[in-house]
This record gives sequence, structure tokens and C-alpha cells, in this order.
Amino acid sequence: MSDRSLQPSRFDVAILGGGPAGSHMALRLARMGRSVALVEARTFPRAKPCGEFMSPECIGILEEIGLKQAVIEAGACSISRMELHGYGRKARGGYMARDLRPGTYIHGLALRREILDEISLRAAAREPSVELFEGQRAIRILRDATGRVDGVGLATGNGGPDEIRADYTIGADGLRSLVAREMGVYHSVESLEKLAFVYRFSGVEPQGHAEVHFVDRGYLIAAPVDGGLLTLNLIVDKASWNGGRDKLAFLHSKLLEAPALAAKLETAELSGEVLAIGPLASTTEEQVFDGAALVGDACGFVDPLTGEGLYFAMRGAALLAPALDRALAAGRRDAAALRAYARARRREFGARFLLARGLQRGLRKPGIARSVLSILASRPRLMDLLLTVTGDSVSPLQALKPRVLLPALWQR
Ligand SMILES: Cc1cc2nc3c(=O)[nH]c(=O)nc-3n(C[C@H](O)[C@H](O)[C@H](O)COP(=O)(O)OP(=O)(O)OC[C@H]3O[C@@H](n4cnc5c(N)ncnc54)[C@H](O)[C@@H]3O)c2cc1C
Repeated sequence: MSDRSLQPSRFDVAILGGGPAGSHMALRLARMGRSVALVEARTFPRAKPCGEFMSPECIGILEEIGLKQAVIEAGACSISRMELHGYGRKARGGYMARDLRPGTYIHGLALRREILDEISLRAAAREPSVELFEGQRAIRILRDATGRVDGVGLATGNGGPDEIRADYTIGADGLRSLVAREMGVYHSVESLEKLAFVYRFSGVEPQGHAEVHFVDRGYLIAAPVDGGLLTLNLIVDKASWNGGRDKLAFLHSKLLEAPALAAKLETAELSGEVLAIGPLASTTEEQVFDGAALVGDACGFVDPLTGEGLYFAMRGAALLAPALDRALAAGRRDAAALRAYARARRREFGARFLLARGLQRGLRKPGIARSVLSILASRPRLMDLLLTVTGDSVSPLQALKPRVLLPALWQR
């Protein structure tokens, strides 16, 4: 951590949050020659509630920024298939390559977040032009005389500076982003509010696939991760959790509706503490501002069902970093200089967010969920196509093209 004195420091970019979005941003900007203050409230390695599954397209991004090898060496599990269970139905499929040729399956990776995030944070911190302020919480946005964002104020008493000044300040600070709230663009989506409980188990028979089990007003997602562990997420409507209940007992009550998963966990042992987080759903109506921008979950988050949050964080950083570099090179500090980033986000992520929300709203209605699962169970190619979209290799719009969709619908 920095041993700078308590006087204000000035950087090209101050990034709040050292998760995947923030660390990738710092790494990319440093390699473009920019000075970066990376401000992270927690001390890493830190746990983060997550299904811990990286979609296949994340692997290319990790490779591009030189982190893939470290992730593989840390023991990341390869996951190429997914099973959906519920309402007496079971659908199975695999992630196809971008060309969608039958038989061209690819895989994602699953690694505990305390390891994944540590790898990218430390890689960023090794860059000479990145200064890491770890264990330092940003508590307010600073503005200059014109009202433009000019940096962040930090909580005092942690041995760091009181404030950091920067030409651009980036909110990569996750679900309830301080930057998004202070810019007045943060909204929770009450109709979609969910709670998540994250359990890890040891002693489960190893498997190369992830599985989703739909239960009353929620679902369970299980995926193998490094270290022979299984990460299990229980996601439920906010209203269905009685705050007083024991979290393991709550899981057991839900497992009664997922007998295949319950059987798998019969000999399993809980490993570590149960993490809980929620409510989950939020959105922002704008992501670029004079002197500031948002990336990753700070831009909004729906629900982990389609397992794309890590991709949005990593890809969002890949889109924002060059936009910032161009703006700084042109001596700009205004929102307009970052509009290309906002447009690219809408173009690349807009349809995916719509699909995620549509699935989330539809699947909470048992009649619709039953029909969707029946269709997917009887049409493996359609299941492959849906997974490939959620694996980020093709966009929902590409998947809707008749030459792609019709064969998938017809083939049983
Ligand atoms: C239950 C659950 C399961 C999920 N499962 C999956 C999955 O399987 N696959 C997938 O792709 N995605 C999944 N996601 C989504 C994924 O976890 C997020 O999309 C991803 O972590 C976003 O990365 P980020 O860097 O934007 O935010 P984060 O990873 O949340 O990082 C934000 C960082 O900012 C720091 N911070 C916050 N406030 C401040 C502050 N004021 N000052 C300084 N630092 C601050 C935090 O400490 C944190 O380290 C899941 C999410 C949940 C909740």
C-alpha cells in the first residue's frame, strides 16, 4: 500500500473498487501509460458472494491481458455443460463456439473469487503507474469549482490520504456503487429483488458441469470450483426469506424441492461460512458523467441466473479503458468524450440485459418455467444455443436470426 503522506495526490484516473472491473481497468490503463489510483475498501484476498463461474468469453479476455495462465495454475475448473432441472424436467446443453457449428463445444472456468480477484488486483498493483490504496473506503465524490467530478474523499484513520484527485473517477464499486448513487443515477428494481446465499461444500463427487435447479420462488446453482469444492448459490425472492432462520436449515428446506441435488450433497460437508447478499437488482440510467464513469456491477445488476456478471465487468473494462485513454489524450474531462463507451455498452450488453430480465420474469411463473424447460429438454440444440448466448459467445440478436434459430427449434 501507498506510503504517500496525507496530502492530496493527483492521478489521471481514480478507480473505486478492486474487483474484476476495477482491477482490469487499472491494468489496462497502466499499460496505456496512465497513472491510476486504485481504491479498494477491503483487504484482499476477500470473499465475494458469487457462483464463481466465468463464461467462455471471459477466457479470451483473461488471455488478452495476460492473466489466463495464473487463473489456470490456480486450479480453475473447466465447465463445458449445464443442466437445468425443475418441474419434473431436465434439460442439458453445452457452450458452442462462436461459429455455432454442431459439435464445436467450448468451456468456461470456475475459480473461487478470493483467488480470482486476488490474481487481478495484485497484477494491477504490480504495474509501476498504479498506486493501490487497499483497505481504504471512498466515502464521497469530490467536485471542482465547475461541478465536474474531481476525485474521491476517503474514510480517515486507515493511514491513507483523505482525498485523491483525478481527471476521471471510475465507479467500479459494485452493486450499491457510491459513484452511481452520488451521480443520482442508481435505482433499485424492486419487482426483481432477490436475496442470495452462497454455500461451499467439500466431499462432492467431481463433475465437469454446472446445474440449475428451479424451486418455489427461486433457484439453486451449483458449480465445481478449484480445491475439489462445489459452490452452491441459493437465489430466492426477497419475500420468501424469514430473516430469523438458520441459513443452512433454509438451504435444506429448499433442497426438498431439488432431490437430485440433495442426493449429490448427501455426503458433503459445508466448507467455510455461508455468505448472504441482497437485494440484488439495480439499474442506472446513465454511465458517463463530466469527470466520471461507471463500469461492472456499478452500472446495474439483474440476477446471477445467466452467469454473465463477470463477463460484463471484464468486457466493460475493455471498452472503457481505451475511451478514457482517448479522452485524456485529447485533454478532455467531459461526459461527451466517453459517449462512445456508453454506446458500445448499449450495443453489446443491451439485448443481453433484456434477455436476462425476460428470463428472470418469465421463469418465476411456474407455468412459463415448466413450458420453457419442456421445450429445452426436448430440443438439445436450442438449449445449446441458449447457453451459448448466456456464455457470451453470440448475442441474443444473432441467435434470433432465422437461419440460427429455426434449425435449433426443429431439431429434437
Ligand atoms: C449471488 C451471486 C452469484 C453470482 N454468480 C455469478 C457467476 O456465477 N458468474 C458471473 O459471471 N457472475 C456472477 N455474479 C455477478 C458477479 O459476481 C459480479 O457481476 C462481479 O463481481 C462484478 O464485478 P465488479 O468488479 O463490478 O464488482 P465487485 O466484484 O463487487 O467488486 C467491487 C469492489 O468494490 C469495492 N468497493 C465497494 N464500495 C467501495 C468504496 N466505497 N470504496 C472502495 N472500494 C469499494 C468492494 O469491496 C469490491 O471489492 C454473481 C453475483 C451474485 C450476487
